[in-house]
This record gives sequence, structure tokens and C-alpha cells, in this order.
Amino acid sequence: MSDVRNVIIIGSGPAGYTAALYTARASLNPLVFEGAVTAGGALMNTTDVENFPGFQDGIMGPELMDNMRAQAERFGAELVPDDVVAVDLTGDIKTVTDTAGTVHRAKAVIVTTGSQHRKLGLPNEDALSGRGVSWCATCDGFFFKDHDIAVVGGGDTAMEEATFLSRFAKSVTIVHRRDTLRASKAMQDRAFADPKIKFAWDSEVAEVKGEQKLSGLTLRNTKTGELSELPVTGLFIAVGHDPRTELFKGQLELDDEGYLKVEAPSTRTNLTGVFGAGDVVDHTYRQAITAAGTGCSAALDAERFLAALA
Ligand code: FAD
Repeated sequence: MSDVRNVIIIGSGPAGYTAALYTARASLNPLVFEGAVTAGGALMNTTDVENFPGFQDGIMGPELMDNMRAQAERFGAELVPDDVVAVDLTGDIKTVTDTAGTVHRAKAVIVTTGSQHRKLGLPNEDALSGRGVSWCATCDGFFFKDHDIAVVGGGDTAMEEATFLSRFAKSVTIVHRRDTLRASKAMQDRAFADPKIKFAWDSEVAEVKGEQKLSGLTLRNTKTGELSELPVTGLFIAVGHDPRTELFKGQLELDDEGYLKVEAPSTRTNLTGVFGAGDVVDHTYRQAITAAGTGCSAALDAERFLAALA
């Protein structure tokens, strides 16, 4: 059993590293579990990031995350490329167990485990990520000026992405498995009224095509099984996200979609001394800068909580 630390941070995206930087600079000696496979978070899987302030020519996702990591380390954050496999966050002293079974103890815990975008599960989808395939119109829409684009999904997010993308795109085709949308009436009306948006009803993506870049999709009609070609150079997948909160079920309060609930505008969860930040909390914005911002807030909340204990 380890000594009791001030703070343990679970997760290493922009939220986790920012929380690590702030708590390290406050001399709280944070221990950060970065994750075994995906240390650095979602931006490790992307290419150019053009909307993180401070980089006027943009920066590659992995480079941005390496910089954040190094900055946190410079001030003494202890970083461990391992997963947390169990937690007990209920008492005054929280416990966090790593994959080797070692139990780490802390007075405060910051949860920044992010969320996983749902995939279509097709070969080529990952290989062409950042090469025509995207999960975020706000992040990547700008790269698709005058392209023909497909958006997959039938909910509010898909309509919002399609309407946003139609500003840049030559055309946007919404590919939806059914013949009616799940999206709210207002979002549907906006999409229907947009002259650049078309619909491929009762359709699913059967194949994502291309070698170095996306060159098109094969669609399958969900009723007849008939195949057709959709020649697009952009594919935005908007079929939902899964916040990584499995570990916290039964301890931390989650909303209907599994996101961590916090007492906004603070980052306090329902358990004293436990704070949440980044995409694990956020349905709405899901950007690196907002994750970093709330990571900062969580660090400051934890710092004040620890100061009040002393
Ligand atoms: P994440 O970055 O998801 O990091 C969470 C981390 O927690 C991961 O490293 C994970 O391994 C770790 N973790 C999870 N569970 C555990 C556990 N049990 N133990 C230890 N560690 C754990 N945003 C922009 O602003 N601009 C862009 O250009 C942009 N492009 C994007 C491109 C792609 C392909 C994707 C997927 C997203 C993009 N985003 C972009 C969104 C942005 O990446 C996210 O909003 C941001 O990374 C969220 O940060 P986070 O710290 O909350 O979580």
C-alpha cells in the first residue's frame, strides 16, 4: 500500500495533462494514470489541429499532446502509462488500483477519462481517419472546402454537423439507416431547408473506400440490400459517443447517457474530493481547448479542497 498522495489524476488527454500541470505547479505532486494504450488521449489519433490557440500555423495532434505532457512533467507531475482498473472513491482516502494490482491512495481524485466516439466498425475506417474520415465537423470542417461529404447518423449531432459542413462543402449527403430522423424537429427542419443537404434514406455504409485518402463509399439499402456508390471525399461519422465511466458506476453519479455529473460551474462530483473534467463530463463542446479549460478548473477545485483540509 502506497503513501497517501494529495491527488491522483485518471486520464491523460488535454483535461488530464492540464490538471496535472496546475496541480504540479501548486506543489501537490500529482500522480497521473495516462492509460496503457492511448496515453495522450484522442488527439493522438489525428493530424493537424488548427484550432488550439497559440499555434498560428496549427500543430499535429501527437506533438501538441507531447508538449502538454512534457510541460506537466517539468513541474514534477508523475506520469504512469498504465490503466486504472478499480477505484474506491467513497471515503476520505480514495483508492485507485493499477493493472499490477498495486493500490494507490489519495485525498483527491480528478477523473479525465474522456469519451470514445462510436465507430461504424468497418475496415479502413481507422486507417483513413484524418485522411477524409472524421468524427468532428467543428475540428475538421474547414479542411473540406468544396468537397462532397457524407454524414452518417440521424440524431441532433448528425444534423448539426451536416448543417455546419454545408457552409464549406459542395454537397452534404446524410446517410441514415431508417426513413425518419431521430433529431429534434427544429434540427430536421434546418437540414431539410438547406439546399446543399441531400438524404440517403434506409442506407448504411457497407464500405469505406480509398488507399491514402477517402475516395468514396459503398452504401447498402437496409430494406432491399441493394448496393450503390456515393463518390465523396469526406465522411463524418456522427453515431454517438460513449463516455468512459464504467469504472465509476455505483460510486459517481452519471447522467442517462453515462456522462459524469458535476455541480456546474464547478467540477465537483457527488463525492467529496472527486472532480471531473473534459469530455467525460461534456456532451456539448467536446474540444481540446474546453477539455483543457475544465482540466484547469478541476485542478483549482482540488487545490482549494485540499487547502481546506489542512
Ligand atoms: P481524451 O483526450 O479522450 O483523453 C482521455 C484519456 O483518458 C485517454 O488517454 C485514455 O486512455 C485515458 N483513460 C481512460 N480510461 C482510463 C483508465 N481507466 N485509466 C487510465 N487512463 C484512462 N478537438 C479540437 O479542439 N481540435 C481538433 O482538431 C480535434 N480533432 C480531433 C480529431 C479526432 C480524430 C478526435 C477523435 C477528436 C478530435 N478533437 C479535436 C476532440 C478532442 O480530441 C477532445 O475533445 C479532447 O481530446 C478531450 O480531451 P479529454 O482530456 O477530455 O479526453
